Amino acid sequence: MINLKKTDPQIYELVKAEERRQKDVLEMIPSENYTSQAVIETLGTVLTNKYSEGYPKKRYYQGNAVVDQVEIIAQDRAKKLFGVPYVNVQAYSGSPANNAVMMATLKPGDTLMGLKLAFGGHLTHGLPLNVSGTYYNSVQFQTTKDGLIDFKEVEELALKHKPKLIICGFTAYPRVVDFAKFAKIADKVGAILLADISHITGLIVAGVHPSPFAYAHIVTTTTHKTLRGPRGALIMVTDKGLKKDPDLGKKIDSAIIPGLQGGPHDNQTAAIAVCLKEASTASFKKYGEQIVKNTKALAEALHTYGFDLVSGGSDNHLILIDLRNKGVNGAVAALALETAGIVANKNGVPFDTMPPFFPSGLRLGTPAITTRGMKEKEMKHVAAWIHHAIEEVESLALPIDKEERKGVWKEYKGDIIKNKNLLKIAKEIKSFCVKFPVP
Ligand SMILES: *Cc1c(COP(=O)(O)O)cnc(C)c1O
Repeated sequence: MINLKKTDPQIYELVKAEERRQKDVLEMIPSENYTSQAVIETLGTVLTNKYSEGYPKKRYYQGNAVVDQVEIIAQDRAKKLFGVPYVNVQAYSGSPANNAVMMATLKPGDTLMGLKLAFGGHLTHGLPLNVSGTYYNSVQFQTTKDGLIDFKEVEELALKHKPKLIICGFTAYPRVVDFAKFAKIADKVGAILLADISHITGLIVAGVHPSPFAYAHIVTTTTHKTLRGPRGALIMVTDKGLKKDPDLGKKIDSAIIPGLQGGPHDNQTAAIAVCLKEASTASFKKYGEQIVKNTKALAEALHTYGFDLVSGGSDNHLILIDLRNKGVNGAVAALALETAGIVANKNGVPFDTMPPFFPSGLRLGTPAITTRGMKEKEMKHVAAWIHHAIEEVESLALPIDKEERKGVWKEYKGDIIKNKNLLKIAKEIKSFCVKFPVP
């Protein structure tokens, strides 16, 4: 980064600071990961200079002979890895990918169904504040008290509202997604089934989570979560999808451009191709298997410290802790953990009575620390650190009253970031992390 250092020392220093931060902490936000240096190098290439509106061999601009090859390689690798007949690799990220699917399959006002955000769904699955919940008629399902998809409710709602699109695959769901059950319901009402596997793609590739490709018509995924690539997304149509509507691929292509986007980010497309190559290796399969082993080990250890895990545990890469039995709010816990060198996020729990900014839970994931080479043995240490950090803030209850809470929270925040015991844990974690280099 010699040039950056010369041109813009301020940004250079910030990049270095972020690099250090990512090295020194346990990065446990389940949607995050460390990409390979090969992916990072690809993002920083001259491919970022090119305009390529359109698709391979059908561009609006000249000079795309090289970019065409890059995009075709990305498409071919995705088709091969996931066994699909059609893929679009141009969506800028996961949210626009889902928007494109809606645009391709629905008219404004048509009905779609997805899981509520507060129960583990994504913004783009019909949240009233999101475009998916304003331009379309969004009917949302939730989970049972135990945090499991309530298929009885899903079926009842589907039969009643006859959605054109049903979305499954979630953001904060610690259990296996039963795609076959969703397909049965979607087929019964003639709906298109979209499996948004953003969080679990790496696990599906590794064979440690059931695959949606025989059941869904369309599959979307981000490329930067467990797939460990650059930020970006894939939209795939399955054989079942093309059978239902042979034009589905064409409709998605036009929804991306001219529907929603202009020129693709060719440097990103190339980096997606690189990550797909990496994901096709035996070592990536091992990586996916280790993510699940680590989550299970972490869940077990947290259980012994009396943590209440939503659904009782985890089948995948993430754990949702209901902190109410500890008397600690999710916001307080997340800040305490960050101070202790563990980066996670506050999260709602099923039927949470607290607002989204002060939810009752905490979401933790193992994809990034597994990339660093941590295994079951290390998860025991991680659980102990989490336990000690939460213990430090057990006396800091937040008032229910909104105004009162504001003042108290401000005071707590100041105390937490100066807490000596938390800072001591952060030091321990920093030296522990040296043994597990980032890629
Ligand atoms: C992360 C995620 C997305 C959105 O991805 P962005 O790249 O943040 O836009 C969509 N769906 C699900 C299920 C996700 O987890």
